[in-house]
Amino acid sequence: MRYYSTNGQAPLATLEKAVVRGLAEDRGLYMPESIRPLGSAFFDNIQDMTLHEIALAVADRFFGEDIPAERLKEIVCDTLSFDIPILKVTDTIYSLELFHGPTLAFKDVGARFMARLLAYFVRGGQHAANAGREVNVLVATSGDTGSAVANGFLGVEGVHVYVLYPKGKVSPIQECQFTTLGRNITAIEVDGVFDDCQALVKSAFMDADLCRHMMLTSANSINVARFLPQSFYYFHAYAQMKRLGKADNLVACVPSGNFGNICSALFGKRMGLPIKRFIAANNANDIFFDYLRTGVYSPKPSVQTIANAMDVGDPSNFARIYDLYGKSHEAIRADISGASYSDTQIADTMRECLSSNGYLLDPHGACGYRALQEGLREGETGFFLETAHPAKFKQVVDDITGGDVEIPGRLAAFMRGKKQSVPMPKDFPSFKEYLMQA
Ligand SMILES: *Cc1c(COP(=O)(O)O)cnc(C)c1O
Repeated sequence: MRYYSTNGQAPLATLEKAVVRGLAEDRGLYMPESIRPLGSAFFDNIQDMTLHEIALAVADRFFGEDIPAERLKEIVCDTLSFDIPILKVTDTIYSLELFHGPTLAFKDVGARFMARLLAYFVRGGQHAANAGREVNVLVATSGDTGSAVANGFLGVEGVHVYVLYPKGKVSPIQECQFTTLGRNITAIEVDGVFDDCQALVKSAFMDADLCRHMMLTSANSINVARFLPQSFYYFHAYAQMKRLGKADNLVACVPSGNFGNICSALFGKRMGLPIKRFIAANNANDIFFDYLRTGVYSPKPSVQTIANAMDVGDPSNFARIYDLYGKSHEAIRADISGASYSDTQIADTMRECLSSNGYLLDPHGACGYRALQEGLREGETGFFLETAHPAKFKQVVDDITGGDVEIPGRLAAFMRGKKQSVPMPKDFPSFKEYLMQA
């Protein structure tokens, strides 16, 4: 499969190039040249298939031409070593729990898949251009991305990960998930804010000396290897709903920030997945919601909320959705509607859902649950993605519910580890000097 750029000014790329580069030369996002549908026989039998069988069939449509079947099977099974259950919350609303992976957030799947795909290429792949080279992954994080990427790449030979995070601005639970790992993971504690971390990463990619010195790549959701595998969730959710006899008039609701997750769902629909429509649930960062109403896309600076993994003022995957729908506002609106909630509304929703249904939401999932509560029409059944375990946001969740959410064993284990990080000023020359000596 070849990949084109949403900006249309870059040459077509192989899968390997798209994964190693991340962004196209013209700063556009890579898109697969074709989306191959799964036939009706697949959907007729999907309720009898396991998560691995479903994911493998989907992965084959995207990556089957480029990765030998046996290798792809290993990558898929290794990536999905945990369950993705769907739970009934009300008569018409179900929760797809994506937080049973190593760092208790949905980014685990994409990060693990990308790590294994990159490892395949650097280990020699099929005529891989980058065989034998060490790849250095730079990732700036305000929390969730760093932990998922660091854990996804932990121990992967030939790849070194540098996680840049703002000193004192990341919750202690999140911090220990990428500072206690060691091995091929280096945590860099930047004396600045998240934007400084991101600026350092961007400057590094543009620095000619550094790029000659070492092979650099990024692991955020613009990477095709991170975002495409997220479509597995939606096929698996559909299979589970079909088993429950609830697959008709199905609505999927996705708490969205950079829109990578919902974008993968829309690819799923293009492959034939019978989901009727989608809702993108936002916090106060309502750029997409505004676009749906007005037809004008105008990015804004992000505002801080209690659902902070969705604090995005210029969602990077908007370009992909726009391209997928032929730049048509009408076509986008026909498949996707939106919602936007303030912190007060999120908190109210968390309390309401706990008292009415006995189900504890995290602040991100709360946006999804509420958007279904308000948006489902007669005869529809909805599921929302519960994108993180409430314990990841313990302080916020306990303050809102007055409870004491239990920290799962996996998280507690991270917290017992020893913190190791490299202190770094926020100026680029210091960071460059550090990398040149690494
Ligand atoms: C990253 C993240 C989101 C947003 O996902 P996008 O793909 O960026 O839209 C939502 N919830 C949680 C917990 C996240 O970590």
